[in-house]
Amino acid sequence: MKTAVVTGGGSGIGAAVAQRLRTDGYQVATLDLKPPTGDDHTYGADVTDPVAVDKALNAIRQQLGPVTVLVNAAGLDGFKRFTNLTFAAWQRVIDVNLNGVFHCIQAALPDMLNARWGRIVNISSSSAHSGQPFMAHYVAAKSAVNGVTKALALELGLSGITVNAVPPGFIDTPMLRAAEERGVLGGTIQQHIERTPVRRVGRAEDIAAACAFLISDEAGYITGQILGVNGGRNT
Ligand code: NAP
Repeated sequence: MKTAVVTGGGSGIGAAVAQRLRTDGYQVATLDLKPPTGDDHTYGADVTDPVAVDKALNAIRQQLGPVTVLVNAAGLDGFKRFTNLTFAAWQRVIDVNLNGVFHCIQAALPDMLNARWGRIVNISSSSAHSGQPFMAHYVAAKSAVNGVTKALALELGLSGITVNAVPPGFIDTPMLRAAEERGVLGGTIQQHIERTPVRRVGRAEDIAAACAFLISDEAGYITGQILGVNGGRNT
């Protein structure tokens, strides 16, 4: 049985990906900021802390065996007019969304290289395609995640490892609800639905389905791709 690590697996999209992979027969460990709940295979680590990430990955390896699937779903949004954006806020958003991806891939990659098989899926954002006002730091980080995805796909193809990104757009999760509550979404969820071609909000399971496909053996010829799941909001 293959072992998968899903960062941000305690909430929203990460939780749906973890659930879907369990259903598909993977052993799944989740990595979150919050300390473990006592559930099986949940680990607490801040993805910005390479020592904590390494420690968690080693514990997962010991418990579940080599990690050959990694889904980077941990993320932090941020809304600030650029003129009010502090460097500290800029850095934190880059740290979680981009540097966190670096640390987690670095920690998991040796197992994939040993196995000569691996799957990495990075959850970026449709805002990297469309841009988004008041989110310069977030858009910068997510655009860089798409870039890392493409570069690593070229580097790791020969080792049997695929690297793809899924940029979600407008998915009903605690992150989206919190943005609506804070009034930073540029309208209500209902107003956004009316501007979405498929006329509904996305579900975390929509993202999980795309990840499950990219992770499957039959997706072995798909790498370096940015697979938008956004109800047609970006084409
Ligand atoms: P969410 O419900 O807020 O989940 C985010 C998860 O990331 C949480 O489990 C959180 O853990 C974890 N996390 C945050 N900072 C972390 C850190 N430093 N170290 C470890 N874990 C950390 O949000 P979501 O909507 O499911 O977002 C999942 C991913 O999709 C994110 O990368 C987000 O940027 C991206 N995305 C979402 C949408 C959307 O419409 N929802 C659109 C575009 C992109 P705690 O709960 O322990 O804090």
